Amino acid sequence: MNRVSIRLRLTLWFSGVLLAGLAVFAVATFLALDHRLMEGVDSDLRARIAGLQTTLDIEGDLSREQMVIEVTEFASEIPEGKLMQLRDAAGAEMLPASKGFRLSAEGFTTELRDGHTYRVLGAPIASHGKSYMATAASDMERVNGILHDLRIFLLLAIPVVMLVAAAGGFWISRRALAPVDEITLVARSISVRNLSQRLRVPQTGDELQRMSETWNDVLERLEEAVKRIHQFTADASHELRSPVALIRATAELALRRERTSQEYQQWLRQIEDEAMRMTELTEALLALARADANGMLELEPVDVTAAATAAIAEVQPSAAEKGIRLQAHFTTQPLVAPGNAPGLRRLLLILLDNAIKYTPAGGHVTLSVEAIAAGIRVEVADTGEGIPEAALPHIFERFYRADTVRARGSGTGLGLSIARTISRAHSTEIAVESEAGKGSRFSFVLCHH
Ligand code: ADP
Repeated sequence: MNRVSIRLRLTLWFSGVLLAGLAVFAVATFLALDHRLMEGVDSDLRARIAGLQTTLDIEGDLSREQMVIEVTEFASEIPEGKLMQLRDAAGAEMLPASKGFRLSAEGFTTELRDGHTYRVLGAPIASHGKSYMATAASDMERVNGILHDLRIFLLLAIPVVMLVAAAGGFWISRRALAPVDEITLVARSISVRNLSQRLRVPQTGDELQRMSETWNDVLERLEEAVKRIHQFTADASHELRSPVALIRATAELALRRERTSQEYQQWLRQIEDEAMRMTELTEALLALARADANGMLELEPVDVTAAATAAIAEVQPSAAEKGIRLQAHFTTQPLVAPGNAPGLRRLLLILLDNAIKYTPAGGHVTLSVEAIAAGIRVEVADTGEGIPEAALPHIFERFYRADTVRARGSGTGLGLSIARTISRAHSTEIAVESEAGKGSRFSFVLCHH
């Protein structure tokens, strides 16, 4: 259904309901008026017959000639008296029948005379032991005229009212739906290229305002996500370019002329180093992409002490190689918290690797695990070079590396970013304390719930 049809449908519905209402109103008005007018006519007829009866009752002892004079006088004094008839029991006329209605009929009838409709009441009258037959009639022209006028009025007024109302309804629904049109237009023009565009939010406090705001929220999140993807892609390709360029340059240089086998070994080792760095980088990128895609890790009870023991064992050789003392600050007693075992292992390795990497020979790296009220607290502390205050807010960003370490070959700038993604999947944040020259502490709490 397109947007015109919603407007049209609204108008049609509205008009239909209005038409039904107006029709009921018109019919009810017409019937009520018809009923009231007929009632008036009927009671008038009854009153005229009753008047005739009274006249006959009072003048009952007079002669027939005098009675004719009396009833004729009575008839001449009341409205529509000419439309009254009276006959005696023998059928002789006492009041002349100007229109000649059927005197035998009893009760109300409707008769047609000379193109006029008449309401007729026929009634037998008994007075002073004699019986009479009387009729009273009323010309319906006035009543029918009123009803006719009303009918004409209703038949003319209803279409006019309908037309005006339908036009008004159409106009109102168009006005009400205009913001929807605008939203549609803007939404249609939005693509990945111009996600920064926003809908104008009408300050009306109604459904349309809420809809526009919701749309803008969606756009905001989309823009954020697309920006992250762009940034990530740009950074990743940038980061991958330099090791590839280095490998190519090394190979080209090596091939420029004949080398000794020692020289070849040296060049190849350089290439191997760079290739390893690339492997590291692509693996980290893959891990990040996966964590981003999953968003959530599956959590199940994990023995944090055991994970910490395993992590210590894994980094022990590199620590020993650098001349760094690794210390484990926890008992062998299991401490269980909801977690994702591979994720937790990776998180611990990233923090331990960094601590070893940024701590000079002779330093200490300590991994502590302790149960606290909120959950299980894990901390990796080192006595290394620390993180400059200016760098602290950025270390969790993708590809960020503090200037002091940028020149050094190893590292991708992705480790802490992955660590943060993992910690967030565990509903916790990594806290950092660091003082340049003294060392750093990275900690997080695995909550029980
Ligand atoms: P990478 O270690 O590969 O450079 P990370 O994301 O793991 O990338 O870390 C980002 C930056 O944070 C590092 O380049 C370094 O400057 C700083 N950093 C991380 N851990 C430590 C630490 N234990 N001591 C000093 N600096 C650190």
